[in-house]
Amino acid sequence: MNALFRACPGLRETLPHVSLATLPTPVEAMPRLGEAVGAPRLYVKRDDLSAEAYGGNKVRKLEFLLGRALSEGRRTVITFEAAGSNHALATAIYARQLGLDSVSMLVPQPNARYVAANLLRSHAAGAALAYRGGIPRLAAAALAECARRRLRDGRWPLLIGPGGSDPPGIAGFVDAAFELREQVEAGLLPEPAHVYAASGTMGTVVGLVLGLAAAGLRARVIAVRVTDARFTSMRRAKRLYVRTNRLLHAACPAFPLVPFPEDQLVFRHEFFGEEYARFTEAGMAAVRLAEETEGLHLEGTYTGKTLAALIADARAGHLREAPALFWNTYNSRPAAQSGADDYHALPESLHGYFEEPVQPLDQPETGRGAGGT
Ligand SMILES: *Cc1c(COP(=O)(O)O)cnc(C)c1O
Repeated sequence: MNALFRACPGLRETLPHVSLATLPTPVEAMPRLGEAVGAPRLYVKRDDLSAEAYGGNKVRKLEFLLGRALSEGRRTVITFEAAGSNHALATAIYARQLGLDSVSMLVPQPNARYVAANLLRSHAAGAALAYRGGIPRLAAAALAECARRRLRDGRWPLLIGPGGSDPPGIAGFVDAAFELREQVEAGLLPEPAHVYAASGTMGTVVGLVLGLAAAGLRARVIAVRVTDARFTSMRRAKRLYVRTNRLLHAACPAFPLVPFPEDQLVFRHEFFGEEYARFTEAGMAAVRLAEETEGLHLEGTYTGKTLAALIADARAGHLREAPALFWNTYNSRPAAQSGADDYHALPESLHGYFEEPVQPLDQPETGRGAGGT
């Protein structure tokens, strides 16, 4: 059972939810990485192992989002994302597992090897993929798709926002914070002073802040921005926080209304680089160091940039005493054999991701990590 339901049993009756994840995810010490950078009390939260079919941070959100879709009798979910999105892929995989149709409305991003891989896997999972160059055209296509599904299914699809960072999805990371408290109480790690996590659409970090505050943990969430500044701001974070808190309090009054603890959320902007999904030297150096020291497989869009922030803080001497937790949000489960490796079955507008070169920093790994996923 989810830690949130243990802490607040009333929510179990009222908050739509479906079990998809394998929880709790492990916490582990990272002594070799810690020693290399000057963070002797360094731990990792292994959300890369969050589920059998596909791990990473999205399945925690999808337990509550797809739970809602089922409880409302929806037949289709439609989500919005960048072309290589892990969220679109996770939604495709878990929607199919629950017998729901899924549609991914995609926008362009810099090319990388994982983009092609994720597109193929989404397609193999039965997702309908639509790709448009601008938000207005994407919105128009989404409206048409909604109308078509309404006619076919007799029901409107459930729309899921980018990254699954709608208040019900964010509840998945409130749950994650309660899970962390249980692990601290069980002595699996000291209470962390700093929790490092990527901030893409902010659902992960906002859910963690709300959950930590409600669970009485004082850890600061170091939210490393990896998307355009308009997706990550304190104002937007506070709005999402309040909406999620109200949702949980309304579902079960025993879940407290907790004022937004502004000092528990710290945004870091200096590891973003040029744009979303554009890899950085610092991020890729962090990916290599994690691989060499701990055998941890990270990537350049989210987790590499996040670990780069942690490493910079450690090298500056800020993590010598304070326990720090790196939240690994990236899937490490191997892809099931899909059988579908011909991209010609995908919409032609997506073929460029298979035919054009990837960005220069996305070179095949050499040495120990080669072929690691
Ligand atoms: C989506 C994603 C994130 C960002 O999570 P948000 O809740 O959107 O901020 C971080 N890491 C990975 C690997 C992701 O796929």
